[in-house]
Amino acid sequence: MSKKKNYSLFDDVCGFVDEAASLMDIHPGLLDQIKQCNSIYKFNFPLKNDDGTYQVIKGYRVQHSHHKLPVKGGIRYSTHVDEEEVKGLAALMTYKCALVNVPFGGAKGGVSIDPTKYTELQLERITRRYTAELIKKKSIGPALDVPAPDYGTGAREMAWIVDTFEAFNPELINAKGCVTGKPLSQHGIAGRTEATGQGVFFGIREAVSVEEDMAELGLTKGLKGKKVIVQGLGNVGYYSAKYLSEAGAKVVGVAEWNGGIWDEKGIDIDALKVYQMENKGFKGYPKGEFIGKSNDLLTYPCDILIPAALENQITSENADKIQAKIIGEAANGPVTQEAEKILVEKGIMVIPDMYLNAGGVTVSYFEWLKNLSRVSFGKLEKRYDMEKYRKLMGTIENATGEEFTDEEKDALIKGASERDLVLSGLEETMVTAYHDMNQKRKEKDIKSLRTAGFILALERIQTSYLDLGIFP
Ligand code: GLU
Repeated sequence: MSKKKNYSLFDDVCGFVDEAASLMDIHPGLLDQIKQCNSIYKFNFPLKNDDGTYQVIKGYRVQHSHHKLPVKGGIRYSTHVDEEEVKGLAALMTYKCALVNVPFGGAKGGVSIDPTKYTELQLERITRRYTAELIKKKSIGPALDVPAPDYGTGAREMAWIVDTFEAFNPELINAKGCVTGKPLSQHGIAGRTEATGQGVFFGIREAVSVEEDMAELGLTKGLKGKKVIVQGLGNVGYYSAKYLSEAGAKVVGVAEWNGGIWDEKGIDIDALKVYQMENKGFKGYPKGEFIGKSNDLLTYPCDILIPAALENQITSENADKIQAKIIGEAANGPVTQEAEKILVEKGIMVIPDMYLNAGGVTVSYFEWLKNLSRVSFGKLEKRYDMEKYRKLMGTIENATGEEFTDEEKDALIKGASERDLVLSGLEETMVTAYHDMNQKRKEKDIKSLRTAGFILALERIQTSYLDLGIFP
């Protein structure tokens, strides 16, 4: 999973946007404004090691579009982090939020480190200092800019961020909403950890449910028996693979940076994940075949290929060899613009990142709303007099005209759990956005779902800018 020199994710995203813009009516001046990053903040700060030596750490926060506030996007810890990458990822957040109708502008942050090379204490120092740098520049806050997890970060880092932010803003009542993806104990939301993978599952399930589209690919409708290869078994790859397997798809390949597994009989995702955590890789896994050059797995035979690691993985060099019928972009930017042309030409359906991995930011939105309103969602039973409600229910009939059973009464009284509410909101978002995007594709008579997605996002962002007017 290497990253090639001279590749710019931001240029690629702009290329996709230009292609979409050429098929729609958009003011060229406005298009230029939409494409640019509104603010780019890069900074260096020192990390003091235990032996008294220092290291210089490079940090970034890019706000791509302010047409909606706050801006939103994750924080990535990786040695690949540089200005072009963060700009590209921030831009993708803008289009992603517009496509799934989550009311945020786009942003992204990053720290250029390999987190596996640092102790937990060092990572905490880095995260807290990074947060302090953002606070200094007013680049974080529930109404301004709300980070979240991304590649190399998770709930632990988000807890350090909220704690640092609150230390500097003790008077702010909504301070918890300064970051999402927090642990549940720190006002996070049920289902946020799995959200991106869950969204990937809903998105792919929706795509394969459209019979006429599947017939064009020579596939039958539905997930049952579809062969899947996943690249990356981190948070997003793991949950995507797990939910797809549970729904009847067969994961036959999993690629990681240090080797992959190929097993036509189907891979037990949970067992492989446990093995990976215990052995820091798949080498020696008792089932299937170990593939040393794991990137080769991208070109193995399957129905659905899911790159769930980094950008720039399917390029003009390997696009021609891809055998999958559907590529589901769980990662951000895994297919380059050149590669996309080759894939579409070959009749492969690419479900674009800006749609497919939007589950993360969608559930982040729910978490942010929960933090602003300062109530937890779901489950009434803790707050109301259960006996009183049970009696009341006894006087109401259910839809079939019969009295409610005790179980039905309890379910109604308790209401849905927070997880149920999150899941149903996420499902509704992913289902609606897929059909909006696919309908736009058919309306414009084009093959690329990505171009259709960008057209839809640009239409919405343009409307937002035009309604806002330009200050001053
Ligand atoms: N990092 C995730 C993404 O790329 C989530 C962003 C968020 O929740 O703000 O979409």
